[in-house]
Amino acid sequence: MTDMISCEEVFEADVNARAEFDVVCDEWLNEAIVAQDAEMDEPPTLECEGCGEVWFASQAGENGRIEWCRKCYKNDPYYV
Ligand SMILES: [Zn+2]
Repeated sequence: MTDMISCEEVFEADVNARAEFDVVCDEWLNEAIVAQDAEMDEPPTLECEGCGEVWFASQAGENGRIEWCRKCYKNDPYYV
């Protein structure tokens, strides 16, 4: 019969390994937080379907699309 040795038991037997593991865990955590921050720095964008201008997705209409924008308005030859 083979006893399964859990990670916790291994770490209890080797304090240094436990400390190393904790450091690696902290690094992973920090990387995850940095990745999250990067995402927050760049909000989702959406292309205007009329002219291709890129706008923030938060500026989309209720249907979640940008079919027309301020730039389209300026490009409109009938706009005076
Ligand atoms: Zn447009």
